[in-house]
Amino acid sequence: MMGPDDWDCPQLAPHPPGRVGPPDMPLDWTAERPFRSRVLGYTCSCRTIVYELLASGGTYVIRRMYQGTPSRVAYAGPWSRPEAERMWDSILTGEASLRAGIS
Ligand SMILES: [Zn+2]
Repeated sequence: MMGPDDWDCPQLAPHPPGRVGPPDMPLDWTAERPFRSRVLGYTCSCRTIVYELLASGGTYVIRRMYQGTPSRVAYAGPWSRPEAERMWDSILTGEASLRAGIS
């Protein structure tokens, strides 16, 4: 049996390793909330911070949700699809700088 975690792990989505290496790809979490969007990808909900890749119209944003108290949501983007997928990959591999403030 695993020890108690803050959230149960459904083991379905990737677990980004957090920031590793130099912050050469800083994300700016100041984008507006997209009017309408659909989720293309997400990281595991067992983590304190969950990331989602969203499609909205012809653009793509990344949503970051902090599941603390109070919970907070921030968006980065918008990007074209290739750019967004590159950013998404950088989050999943830990190459993106995730240090920017979460407010
Ligand atoms: Zn998990």
